Amino acid sequence: MLKKIALLAPGDLQLQTVEEGPALQSGTVKVHVSACGICGSDLALLNGTRDMTKELYFGHEFSGVVTETADDSCGFQPGMRVATELARTCGQCWNCRNGLPNYCRSMNDALLPGGFTEETLVHSTPDYGFLSQIPDTLDDITASLLEPANCAYHIAMQANIKPGDNVVVFGLGAMGIIAAIMLKQLGAGAIVCVGRRPARQEKARQTGIFDAVVGNDEDGMAQIRQICGEKGADVTIEATGSPQVLTDAIRVVRSGGRVVVGSVYHGTIRDFDPLPIFRKELTLAGAKGPTVYRRTDGSSAVMYMMERAQNDLKKIISVYDYKDALKAFEDAKSGEAIKAVITF
Ligand SMILES: [Zn+2]
Ligand SMILES: [Zn+2]
Repeated sequence: MLKKIALLAPGDLQLQTVEEGPALQSGTVKVHVSACGICGSDLALLNGTRDMTKELYFGHEFSGVVTETADDSCGFQPGMRVATELARTCGQCWNCRNGLPNYCRSMNDALLPGGFTEETLVHSTPDYGFLSQIPDTLDDITASLLEPANCAYHIAMQANIKPGDNVVVFGLGAMGIIAAIMLKQLGAGAIVCVGRRPARQEKARQTGIFDAVVGNDEDGMAQIRQICGEKGADVTIEATGSPQVLTDAIRVVRSGGRVVVGSVYHGTIRDFDPLPIFRKELTLAGAKGPTVYRRTDGSSAVMYMMERAQNDLKKIISVYDYKDALKAFEDAKSGEAIKAVITF
């Protein structure tokens, strides 16, 4: 029997067992899932703000072991440990040829049915693939963060920092925090994280990863000036999902600085004042992950970064056994867990 966390309708999450997993199809690899993280988009499917009939998968942040491969397995063999990210794109379309592999095509049919079940198929062909091998030095639970780490790494790449640059990250969700961890690895100077909820601030502070964790208030802004200097931060990252906070990211960045938007916004900004973009000669950059980042040997550049950052990454993971999966979703929703990962 295979364990499954089934989303039957918005709000209706159930633990089920199924006789057998999906039968192997051409162009896919079968993965026995060991750990699957909960993403904000999974919560949106659960609460109904995202439409389940349009999304073919539930759970896209997982790791496991390859059990079966179709005709062209792209080098994957049974027994290999793998995790999901956008690993390969076609290389032929306009987007791929113009440095935008993250726009190659929709990920919607990549995972059948996704990682909240013990067995899933993953699309894996020479022109589109979603699996990267996990190195021996990284455990399955940490490796399940590969997909969000890939998106966070894209934010860090769009930040285009120089060594020693001071960075302010708005948003203490997994995306903001992993982006901050990646920027630290890339040689950022001071990193100040800004959050709204005191409990979450305390959680982020306790990890000891960042130079400061502050509230988005007068006191917090004073601390930012103290750490980054009166000119402001070299780079600000907006990863709260709240459009209004973009105005804070624009206010806190120095003249000639860079603002990276790594948020999925639902809504608009009231009374938005665009003048600082001109006055401070700002660069605004979007960061829509996941994006393909490979080393010259073909392995995942993001996995490489995760190996180096694993001590920090482990501090933000809350692990739940399958039988406690509903609690994991609750804690992900309430913010009790920065990144909730369910093990099978
Ligand atoms: Zn995700
Ligand atoms: Zn393409």
